[in-house]
Amino acid sequence: MKNINFLAFAMPAFFLFLFIEYKLAKRKKRPEIFNYESSVSNISIGIAERLINLFIAASFYQLYYFIYDDYRIFDIPANALIWFALILATDFVWYWYHRLGHEVNFFWAAHIVHHHSEEFNFTAAARITTFQAIIRTGFWCVLPLIGFHPTMVITMLIVHGAYSFFTHTQLIGKIKWLEYIFVTPSVHGVHHASDEKYLDKNYGDMFTFWDRLFGTFQTEEEKPKYGLTHPLKSYSFLWQHFHYYFEIYELWKRSSGFKARWKAVFGSPADMDQDIRPILEKRFLQDKAAPNQRLRFKNYLYIQLGICTLILTVFTYYFDYLENYDKIFVLSLVILTLINCGALLEQRKWIYYLEYARLAMISTYFLYEEDLIMFFFVPIAIMIFAEQLFSLSKIYQNTILQLETVE
Ligand SMILES: [Zn+2]
Ligand SMILES: [Zn+2]
Repeated sequence: MKNINFLAFAMPAFFLFLFIEYKLAKRKKRPEIFNYESSVSNISIGIAERLINLFIAASFYQLYYFIYDDYRIFDIPANALIWFALILATDFVWYWYHRLGHEVNFFWAAHIVHHHSEEFNFTAAARITTFQAIIRTGFWCVLPLIGFHPTMVITMLIVHGAYSFFTHTQLIGKIKWLEYIFVTPSVHGVHHASDEKYLDKNYGDMFTFWDRLFGTFQTEEEKPKYGLTHPLKSYSFLWQHFHYYFEIYELWKRSSGFKARWKAVFGSPADMDQDIRPILEKRFLQDKAAPNQRLRFKNYLYIQLGICTLILTVFTYYFDYLENYDKIFVLSLVILTLINCGALLEQRKWIYYLEYARLAMISTYFLYEEDLIMFFFVPIAIMIFAEQLFSLSKIYQNTILQLETVE
């Protein structure tokens, strides 16, 4: 029996809360909470993760069942007390998964993406990557291994995921008495800050007592400065996902001997050589536009993101009913579009090649659907002729990549 996926409703809910947060920020005269480029970038990363998650979530769940069925240590019944124990156990595992995410290069490479955003709002909560989801799953395996039933574990992870969404906002101020037990937006805001006293603090997801117990709790005092100590300064979709892996690889290449190489991969991000990133950015991101200019043609971006969200919602809902080739098409189309959005934000000159690739992909898909795949070359030939005749890439660059100077 095929299933309808109710997680599809998470998307409209996300945008509804985001809309409310945006309106409230305006009403409270705090427009600095939102930044156009950063919001687009955060949402793009969230869309990709939700999309890829559809393909791999089932194997995560199978893994929990496999561990539970064959290797569980205790037989734990499901009663109210056990649910209470599970909520504490999940937060304990979360604490260590999150702390190691900050203390070990290999894990930080995935988790750093969550911390790129220099804005702290609901869009920052969406900055989770598939790499992080995979690493997290590795940690969650402890729970079915102890003997918690996978259905309980999965339910609890949804509760945790929903809770952590609401801790990414500046609109709720400090609530001192609540901090004794719960992670509040102010407590998690401290975790996202780059100020010296706030670094490596507040790893808990729902509760603050693990942080208090292990000496990593810090309450908000001065207003935090959000983002990384060394900000990324790039909205490239791919670079944001992969830059730290490249940095680790570069450090590994520069190191000699087993100990140094081990440290490059499993050492502390605090010891990462800070010269590496600028060198790599020079190598991979050469044609970046001037930083004081921003994109004028924003609607094109909004339309693309809107379509991606819509596709993701419908796709999530009907995922189990689709053929594999439909799934691969949608995945490729959305990922290509997200790369396009990042390239637009960065005003990359090569972006029209991406537009052609996308058009070729769409036309090929529809020809395949209509059993006309042997004519796949026709649209491609038309595109090549059109480019030759009308210099479309020039027109594209002049219209879409128009810049305005920001004072
Ligand atoms: Zn973190
Ligand atoms: Zn966060």
